[in-house]
Amino acid sequence: MRDFLLDDADRAFRAEVRDFLQRELAPRAADIEDRQSWDAVRHVVRALGAAGYLKLMFPDLYKGKLEHPGLTHATILSEEASYINYAFETTIATALSCAYPLHRHASERLRDTYLTPILEGTAIGAICVTEPNVGSDSAGMETRIEFDEARDEWVINGFKRYISNASVADVYIVYGLTGDGMTAVAVPKNAKGISFPRNYTFMGRRGCIVGEVKFENCRVPADHLLGDKGGGFRIMRGMFNFERAILGGSGLGVARSAFDIATAHAQTRKSFGQALGCKQLIWDKIAQMSWRIDASELITYRATKMYDAGADGKALMKEAAMAKLVATETANYCADETVQILGGDGLTKEYGRAEQLYRDARALTIVGGTSEVAKYLIAGRDLPDIRITL
Ligand SMILES: Cc1cc2nc3c(=O)[nH]c(=O)nc-3n(C[C@H](O)[C@H](O)[C@H](O)COP(=O)(O)OP(=O)(O)OC[C@H]3O[C@@H](n4cnc5c(N)ncnc54)[C@H](O)[C@@H]3O)c2cc1C
Repeated sequence: MRDFLLDDADRAFRAEVRDFLQRELAPRAADIEDRQSWDAVRHVVRALGAAGYLKLMFPDLYKGKLEHPGLTHATILSEEASYINYAFETTIATALSCAYPLHRHASERLRDTYLTPILEGTAIGAICVTEPNVGSDSAGMETRIEFDEARDEWVINGFKRYISNASVADVYIVYGLTGDGMTAVAVPKNAKGISFPRNYTFMGRRGCIVGEVKFENCRVPADHLLGDKGGGFRIMRGMFNFERAILGGSGLGVARSAFDIATAHAQTRKSFGQALGCKQLIWDKIAQMSWRIDASELITYRATKMYDAGADGKALMKEAAMAKLVATETANYCADETVQILGGDGLTKEYGRAEQLYRDARALTIVGGTSEVAKYLIAGRDLPDIRITL
């Protein structure tokens, strides 16, 4: 059994959510991948919201069957969704990354306006950190947020790119500099001065929307501030912790999906008179995938269980980064080896999903902080007596 750190309630939840996604997501997966159907994505987001699954991360709001809901269950949901279609899962993971700072740092009024609809699946959220000149080095961002005292409004100027759910999201958490540090504000889609210059075409993750968001003297009321002015970096760090643990689930889902295709093929495909899996060069690949998936699972659910037990901020940074690093590298390893084990079948859409998993997996080691950034965060904790730099 792989899920060593999960208990019976977690396993029952996994079975329940797997059934749910088989009903709601699996029949729409081809629409999402082949026709890039946003309607299909929206349908499943609504269904998840209506079933209460988008509230798993927020025990005070969750009203379902689980006695102790939390990040572990949100990550199980991500894992099971990514197993079927990683592009779809990115939409809900991003919406939850938007919900997280709203839940922790927004006023009651803002939570009613923006958070509730996201968690009910009737609205979509986005996170705006990355810019043309700033990716990994987020502290160097160029977006400016100023306070206009006369009108009691925040004024945002900047350009964000690679923003998941850009143009389809109803609310954007925007990070920018205020002179005293980084600040986060919530910006609704209909705010004056926000625009969406273009969406990108990616090699994988087909069906999810990623694009640019421009802020030109964009104004939001004073109460759209999250937390304190200048306190945005702390908010962002908390958000990344949770996002990286969830990305552990995304990586696991993709890795397991590839592994199941590879093991089925290795047992049925005959070569030189025997099943492929009889050959040492092939069973070695299966064993390598298998231990990497187990390690990813242990490391990912260690991080989620730590979070659910109250660890956060600096106390979770290393473990969350490790979950993201190990599971997303594993997804790439497994998707790559699966294509190899399938031979020509691995490269064609006509013979299954291996080629899709290979394309989808590639984004995983880049989004939410690259593998290099994750290693920096891990080593930074392991070398406390020196200051390592990126
Ligand atoms: C599909 C997709 C969806 C995304 N969604 C969002 C989103 O919703 N919101 C958002 O804000 N951003 C989003 N991003 C952006 C993502 O977070 C960034 O792409 C990522 O942080 C890397 O930034 P970059 O692309 O600018 O690469 P860079 O930071 O320019 O890095 C390029 C390469 O250099 C490496 N590198 C950088 N600095 C160092 C160093 N000092 N030492 C060693 N190596 C280094 C990096 O690890 C990477 O391999 C998304 C990206 C993609 C591809």
